[in-house]
Amino acid sequence: MAKRDYYEVLGVSKGAGEDEIKKAYRRLARQYHPDVNKDDPQAEEKFKEINEAYEVLSNPQKRAAYDQFGHAAGDANFGNGAGFGGFEGFGGFEGFGDLFDMFFGGGGGRRRSGPQRGADLRVDLEIDFTDAAFGKETTVRIPRTETCTVCKGNRAKPGTPIKTCPTCQGTGQVQSVQNTAFGRFSTVRTCHQCQGVGKIIETPCPECMGRGTVRRQREIEIKIPPGVDTGHRLRVSGEGEAGERGGSPGDLYVYIRVRPHKFFKRQGDDLILEKAISFTQAVLGGTIEVPTLDGQAELRIPEGTQTGTLFRLKGKGFPHLRGYGRGDELVRVKIHTPTKLTAVQREAVRKLAEAFGEEPPEEKGFFGKVKDALGK
Ligand SMILES: [Zn+2]
Ligand SMILES: [Zn+2]
Repeated sequence: MAKRDYYEVLGVSKGAGEDEIKKAYRRLARQYHPDVNKDDPQAEEKFKEINEAYEVLSNPQKRAAYDQFGHAAGDANFGNGAGFGGFEGFGGFEGFGDLFDMFFGGGGGRRRSGPQRGADLRVDLEIDFTDAAFGKETTVRIPRTETCTVCKGNRAKPGTPIKTCPTCQGTGQVQSVQNTAFGRFSTVRTCHQCQGVGKIIETPCPECMGRGTVRRQREIEIKIPPGVDTGHRLRVSGEGEAGERGGSPGDLYVYIRVRPHKFFKRQGDDLILEKAISFTQAVLGGTIEVPTLDGQAELRIPEGTQTGTLFRLKGKGFPHLRGYGRGDELVRVKIHTPTKLTAVQREAVRKLAEAFGEEPPEEKGFFGKVKDALGK
């Protein structure tokens, strides 16, 4: 891309005076500063262009060379051995941050002297399937930063004086006036003597070494509500890291993972259980015992039950986390085909097959025939 004329970039005439160039630059730099144009990727380019133009046109020696040779002058050596240097001469964007602060009176959002809320903490907790169903009170162990109990966070040894910072008079900030190429600017910075706290400690608290906070291992009591599932997150208010300068503590987030069960599966708030029944139970019907979250329960199997049939035990599932009641337990029965028969049993089944009017079965494929007879 061809370089635009520096005068054109700043929107000034070739005969523009120093003040006019300075004014044009300040107006454009404000307009195209990357901090105020975060959504416009071209603003940064434009901003660089403006700065480069200003760097040259504000310097009488460079401007004279530019007037004579145009952009080619930037590649040539001047008396001091440096060309225009382009954008890098400004020291990158960190420098512009300060420049921006000068224009706009300091980045208020970046100030760190006020109360600051403590950070949130995360802890992962694995619980048993049945604890997820019925809830549990348990504890988690976390390392965290707490407000020092000896000095109550004011960082001074109890009984020793805390003085107002003489540098900032307790405000935590110092104002300075700078004379720059763009005029006089007033900047507000965090006080270096007190680090923005506004107070000076004579004797630091021996417990926290004057930090106001200490690291501790803590056991936090957690109440797991009935019905939680893997991926649920519990918030324990105020149990995160301590705040700074009187800020409130953060929160603790407990991420739940439920261990799988030996034979129950979960589907929302319903439980799924696969249960084997014998083929005589399937054919003749009967009552079987099935496990539930609350212990054994009886389940009536009707005569002629097919494999895969689903039976519903109402209200034997997981409690609804929000609201009342519970899900159901769904029992899917599977007909168990015996693999070892005694001679007597074998004879009985052969008789059964005959009674169904089947060919006397081959030794092989015998059980398949039985299953056919049972309607599988
Ligand atoms: Zn302390
Ligand atoms: Zn201070």
